[in-house]
Amino acid sequence: MTKPQTGLIGLGTMGAALALNIAEKGFPIAVWNRTTSVTHAFKADAGDLAVRITPTDSLADLVAAMAPPRAIILMVPAGPAVDDMLAALAPLLDKDDLVIDAGNANFHDTNRRSAASLPFRFMGIGVSGGEEGARHGPAIMAGGTAADWARMAPVFHAIAARTEDGTPCADQMGESGAGHFVKAVHNGIEYADMQMIAEVYGVMRDGLAMPAPQIAPVFAKWNQGTLKSYLVEISAAVAAATDPIGKGPLLDMIVDAAGQKGTGRWTAIEAQNLAAPIPVIEAAVMARNVSARRDERAKGQALYGPGPQTASFTLEDLEHALIAGKILCYAQGFAMMTAAAREFGWALDMPAIARVWRAGCIIRSAMLNDMATALATDPARNLMLAPFFADHLRRSLPSLRRVVSSGALNGHGLPALSGGLAWFDLMRTARGTANMIQGQRDFFGLHGFKRLDGLDAPHGPWART
Ligand code: NDP
Repeated sequence: MTKPQTGLIGLGTMGAALALNIAEKGFPIAVWNRTTSVTHAFKADAGDLAVRITPTDSLADLVAAMAPPRAIILMVPAGPAVDDMLAALAPLLDKDDLVIDAGNANFHDTNRRSAASLPFRFMGIGVSGGEEGARHGPAIMAGGTAADWARMAPVFHAIAARTEDGTPCADQMGESGAGHFVKAVHNGIEYADMQMIAEVYGVMRDGLAMPAPQIAPVFAKWNQGTLKSYLVEISAAVAAATDPIGKGPLLDMIVDAAGQKGTGRWTAIEAQNLAAPIPVIEAAVMARNVSARRDERAKGQALYGPGPQTASFTLEDLEHALIAGKILCYAQGFAMMTAAAREFGWALDMPAIARVWRAGCIIRSAMLNDMATALATDPARNLMLAPFFADHLRRSLPSLRRVVSSGALNGHGLPALSGGLAWFDLMRTARGTANMIQGQRDFFGLHGFKRLDGLDAPHGPWART
């Protein structure tokens, strides 16, 4: 067998699945894992694909087993493990060899590693779709140079998910940390999509007194229309499931405290750094943190009385509220990426990002086709100003208003949907209220202000001379 040019380090959940995917697409691959027994078990369990897999027992063996120029994918936990691996590989690799960090790195780390004088080439890629995606077709958001992307594109295009028209969901997002940045925003949007679905589930359960088996077909029906997406589809399946070890719907037995690995929080923090408003994503991160406070929430309910009351909106309102919330959330996410492109000097290709998200990743949805089209016309324009989405919003905003206002009146916490609506109302108000803030700032700090008529502005009459 010819020596492989592709290698992979870290045969955990994602690495093993990715290595099998690569082998399946016809690329021989050399693998190494910190725990050697895992490496050999991986080859032994690889079935027909084992013929393309070269297991190795040390990093030196891995490098020796490969033909230059080598491309080695790292699939180890983000953070120090990646730096340790880069340091360990440094004395072993040539300058044309390429190391690809495919874990969930913080993009600042990827920027730092890209700028470091490593004795080999380096790129960071975001991989979405979980284990199933890694095995059968993830969405791949690559950072790094165009030359390194061109070199790896045949492999990444081969293993990536494909849209219905056969387009691979793998592309270069921009230089250095751009791929990991886009992956972080993807994860933030994932938090927001999930939170908004959870919010409409909550009002069906508590406001409309619908049991889970009645909620499931509602999500299934929505999945036939504008909201067609992986997350709405699996929400129908989750609501439909019966408890395998108890009685009744499984959903009613699941503890209402959401886990998180922190990538949504990274997105929220970065949005603050960029002064890019993403209130739907921020609300989703906040809501996960509140969900973890079960004891305090129980005390709150005991003190303030019964939970949510009957709400007055229809299922159609809920569907349209979710459509509006989703558009607003993506409008914020893409605007944040525009701000990041400016800040970090990346040529982020907005339509390409929407296209890469169309399959393989958790936020895949039919609406991303329309977003790619709208962004192709004017990548820098906020999506809420694109005519196609403006039409959608005009139709769905009355429902969002009914759901949010009825939710507030009846005690349903709807932070993501409310955050989206508040942002929209600020964004469609030409004369805002920050003139008051500027007056206050001048009053207590003599910070000054600009006048609408353009005349020179002395401080207000409150200034002491
Ligand atoms: P796992 O915990 O399943 O596997 C981790 C792998 O890394 C193992 O092979 C482990 O080796 C190895 N490893 C751990 N620490 C070190 C170290 N210090 N030095 C060298 N090797 C080490 O993790 P996942 O496969 O789930 O995740 C891998 C990366 O992919 C992470 O960055 C994660 O955030 C990212 N990711 C995960 C997704 C998921 O759905 N799970 C989705 C997208 C990205 P050993 O066998 O010796 O323990």
